[in-house]
Amino acid sequence: MHMKKGILYFLLLLLILFIPAKTVDLIVDKEEINEKEEKEIEWVENPSKDSTKILETPKVIKPLNTSTSTDSNWWEYPKDIYPTKRNGNDLLVLVNKQYKLPSTYAPSDLVKASNSGIRRGEDYYLRNIIIPDLTRMVIDSKAEGIDLSIVSGYRSYQTQVNTYNYWLSKNDNNVALVDTFSARPGHSQHQLGTVIDFSSNEIGDRLGDEFANTKASKWLIANAYKYGFVLSFPKGSESITGYKFESWHYRYVGVQYAREVADSGQILELYLRGNNP
Ligand code: ZN
Repeated sequence: MHMKKGILYFLLLLLILFIPAKTVDLIVDKEEINEKEEKEIEWVENPSKDSTKILETPKVIKPLNTSTSTDSNWWEYPKDIYPTKRNGNDLLVLVNKQYKLPSTYAPSDLVKASNSGIRRGEDYYLRNIIIPDLTRMVIDSKAEGIDLSIVSGYRSYQTQVNTYNYWLSKNDNNVALVDTFSARPGHSQHQLGTVIDFSSNEIGDRLGDEFANTKASKWLIANAYKYGFVLSFPKGSESITGYKFESWHYRYVGVQYAREVADSGQILELYLRGNNP
């Protein structure tokens, strides 16, 4: 009798423990996206060679030396900041240092980047709308002996807040310095879910300047537009884009518009300005 009661209590205890565990499971699923982004703090656009060590020893960057532009204050934000003229879902929305996305904007069709077959895609999210063209790109590049991996994708507004504040705290609140390598909240194209930071096994999937010398980077320069991708921050355009050259950062605008950008000979920033009057 006593034994039976014990078993009954044990079963009851299990029930109490397991019902909330199931509920928590569902919540965790929803929060998964945010957790993944937290990891990205170490993957912020940063010229450091060894990105995995950024968290312990943030590099102090000398802005004037990294610029190939003659405009010395290319990293500064304009005095007047405006909301983006197009909706965040619009592939041609202009997001830069002057036009910022609302804190409430998040794409509604985020999926795992791995749906495209790109290496390391399990850890990042992208808009579903770019998956078919990205899948083609991954297959075609592979067929030509090119290895591509993703090292950053969607970044929420809140992640941008955390990242920017993190770098400020690590650099004595030196805003001018932090503005040279980390976007202020709402100003990152990564919030669109249509931006990929690429790397390759050629450089051990690291993020940074060394990507420019890889076969993968050269392949992207020649072919990315055929799949709807355009390099956002080209070399020597710091004074226009507000960012130093980022050989790894590509934005998807769709095949038709990417071709138009390529044919126009304009950089993406100017093309988008023309389309966001
Ligand atoms: Zn990027």
